[in-house]
Formats: sequence, C-alpha cells, structure tokens
Amino acid sequence: MEYHILAPRTLDENGRALYAPYGLAKVEAALVAAGFRIEDVIITPPEKLEKVVDKDTEILGIHTVDPQGLAPVSWTLRVMTGGGKTCTALEFEKLMEKVKRLKKRYGFRVVVGGPGVWQLRGREDRFGIDVVYDGEAELDFPLLVKKILGGEKVPRYVAGRIVPPDEIPPIITPSRNGLVQITRGCPRGCQFCKPTTFFFRSIPLDTVLREAELNARTGAKVIEFVTEDVLLYGAKGLHLNGEAVKKLFAETYKAVKSYGVEQITFSHITLSSALVLKDAVRFISDINGLSEKSPIFPQVGLESGSPRIVAKYFRGKPYPWKPEDWPWVVVEGSKLLNDNYMYPCLTYIIGFPDATPEDYVRTTELIDRLVEEGFRGWIYPLFLVPIGGTRIEKRAEFMTWEEIPQEAVEAIVAGWEHSIRFSEYIYPVLLRGLKNPLIRKIVNALIGEALDAMRTWIRRIKEDPRIVKSFSEINIRDKKTALKIMTRTMVTQAPRILKRRIAAST
Ligand code: SF4
Repeated sequence: MEYHILAPRTLDENGRALYAPYGLAKVEAALVAAGFRIEDVIITPPEKLEKVVDKDTEILGIHTVDPQGLAPVSWTLRVMTGGGKTCTALEFEKLMEKVKRLKKRYGFRVVVGGPGVWQLRGREDRFGIDVVYDGEAELDFPLLVKKILGGEKVPRYVAGRIVPPDEIPPIITPSRNGLVQITRGCPRGCQFCKPTTFFFRSIPLDTVLREAELNARTGAKVIEFVTEDVLLYGAKGLHLNGEAVKKLFAETYKAVKSYGVEQITFSHITLSSALVLKDAVRFISDINGLSEKSPIFPQVGLESGSPRIVAKYFRGKPYPWKPEDWPWVVVEGSKLLNDNYMYPCLTYIIGFPDATPEDYVRTTELIDRLVEEGFRGWIYPLFLVPIGGTRIEKRAEFMTWEEIPQEAVEAIVAGWEHSIRFSEYIYPVLLRGLKNPLIRKIVNALIGEALDAMRTWIRRIKEDPRIVKSFSEINIRDKKTALKIMTRTMVTQAPRILKRRIAAST
C-alpha cells in the first residue's frame, strides 16, 4: 500500500525523480542557481541509491521530515496505539543502513536536512551523518557543498540563514502533489510552533506562477499552496491583505487553467484570518467551484478551548480578537469555512505543561458546541511534542497516557468520536474518484471495517486508556495478519454493503 499507492515512484531511466518532494526540489533549484550544473545534482528515492551512487558521488544529501517518529501526528498515533516504531522511523533506519554501506564503499559525505533534523541531534554517529543541516537552504547549503567539495573542514551542525524572498529561486523538477510554497514563517508567535521562529515572508507572485505552471504542465490536476495560513499571503505582519490573496488565486488560475487543473487548494488556514477576510474566503471557494460534492480539507489549529491556555501559549492566534474570544472565533470561523465548502481538520493539543482538568473541560465543551452547530470536518487531538527550536521546547515533555488526567482522555474521545462520524459521512464523496466498481467496493469495505474498529478502539480507551498496550501486540506488517484482516473485512462487510445497495435501489 505504502509504496505502490501512497508513494508511487516516477523516475527516468537514470533513476532521476520526475517529481520530487517540494523541499528537495527547492534544494536542487538553490544549487543550480548557485552555479552547479543540473547534470551534477540528482534527486532519487531510497531504493534507487545503489543505481545512482558510484565512485563519482561526493555528497549524499538526505531530506527528512520525521526520522525518529517524534513529529506530533506520529507521536500521537504511537501513544494511542500503545507504542512501537512508526513507518517513518522504520524507513529512515532502513535507508541509513543502506547509506552506511554505500558510504563505506565510495567514501562520500552525508548531509541530512529537512524539518525533522531536530530529532537527529546527538544521533549523528549512529546513522553515519557528517553534517546536520537545519533551516533554509538557498543561502547556505550551496556554500556548504562548495566547502565540502573544496576539501575544507565543515562543522557537524549548520544552521541555514533566513532567505530574502527574491533570492528564493523557483523549482526546476516538478513537485509531488502539485505543491507550491506561497509563504514562509508565521507572525502569530505560538510557543509550540517551529515555522513561527522563521521571519514571515510572502513568495513573489512571479515565482509562485512559474512553479504552478511547471507543475500543471507536467500533469498536476491540483495545485496546492504550501503555507501556514493562506490568508497571510501579501500581509504585512498581521495586517492582512485580501486583495493580494484574491490576486494570487486569480492569477494562478489564469496560469494553469489551460492545462486542465481542477482545483487550487492550500494546506493551512487560520480561523481568525478567515473571519477578517470573509470576502477572500468566498472568492477562493467560488473560483474553485467548491460544493458539497467537491469540498476541500485544509488543516486548522484549534489547539485548546481554554482562554487561559490561549493567553499563555498562543495569544497571537486569535488576533485581532482576544484570547477570551477564542471559542467564539473557532465556532464562527468554522461555520464560515463550512458555508464555503471547506471541511477542515481542526487539531488540538493535549499536554500543555500546566494544563488543568478545567482547561480540558473547556476544550471538550468547545468540541460539543461545534458538534451541536453541525460542524463538518475532523477534530483531531495531538499529544504535545516539544519540537526542537520552539519556544516551549525546554518546558514541555513528550506526553503519554500516564501524564494526563481523565478530563484530557474525555477531550480526546470527544474529538475522535466526531471525527469517526464525519469520516463516515465524507468517505463516499472521497471515493467518487475511484472509477473501477470492484476496487471501490473493496475500499468501501475496508473503510467500513476500519471505522468500526476505530469506534471500538475509542470506546475501550474511554473505559481505560491502559488498553492500548494490547493493541501494540498486533503486527500489521505480518502478511498473515494482514490477510486475516482483509478476509474478515470482506466477510463481515459484504452483508452491510448489500443492505446499503438494496436500500439505495428501493
Ligand atoms: S498560527 Fe499556526 S503557523 Fe502561526 S505560529 Fe501559530 S501554530 Fe504556528
């Protein structure tokens, strides 16, 4: 599933990636802009390393997002399923074993970069890493490469400087999933967040259009803007600029429509920005032709329902409203998004350092209010992770079930229960793209089984969170177990599908 459906490889005959993860495409563009020849830089996936690496290879750069499974979603799912290694950690370790073997044979240098490098500090020797590169690539990564090639001694840890927006070159290799970055950094200053530690900038429209056009020309049907908040585009600090946002969507649409692009979507949006720029939210919905049958699913930070926690850890997020207005901002902002066919994934945090049972009760109350208002979207709890470089890092701990009160468990359950109900409502819409009726039936059955299993899982956690220990004993990588689950799914779900079909035809 992972290799063939979620991450299919698209390579040319030399093992060069035809579509690259966005961060790697940016690094390649930075090297070429700094004078390296494109023939001397190659982006390739892990399983092609043996084909691509040889005696001429001088530097092997590795991009990583979550090498030890400590990113918030991975950590949360680990805690909720009783521990074990994440697929991200497993893949990284497999990759580094291979890299160490090749390094021994050819003697190249290994540089690791990307948003997950904070997880690798102190583990460099274990993985055979020569340099950990932290931060933006455009200014300092080409300098580092030149130094290594020139035989100079380089430090083990390099922090890349913040790059002025007009010195960020557009990508040359199309990005996977049609990604195009439109902003870097965020001015809201939440204490648990890494992007806010970068100075906020909007990427020049010309660069955005060139990247969008490249992705569209090479087959992307959706252009996805990468941003911490799409409505920050063109803003000066927190003074938003609705006209810049509308122009961004209108010009991008003009640049890509002849290639058959169906949607211009985005990764994140902030509810307070949405309430300030209602007009721009409607504009984005209209230009994309969003509807009940064709919604989008941005990610949104709810974080907590307690104004005390808001004031202490993320008081910039409700701006121009105050921390005590946050529950209102969440409810009204969510309604606005839903009215414009944006069904967000609202994430909230369990485990702020001094959160009290009362704070968790406020969060559960806010979730209940959203549910009463008919909120369409997921409400997803995340255990707090002290991400390296954030303001909260030194004061926070990795949270587990042992450290949280029963009220926090109830807040987690409230979010999951709603998310399961919403998944049940939305998955037929998501599956419409599957044209093959047999595949659709199989996927339908698997999702039905998965949602049933999740409902049981959440019910058992509500009774006693220690139950997760027994979940951790299931080895889903074992082929026999996987086959057993698939067979049981088909047997148990078949009558249900049949019943649904009969109900539909009558
Ligand atoms: S609003 Fe989002 S991106 Fe901005 S600082 Fe807060 S968590 Fe980070």
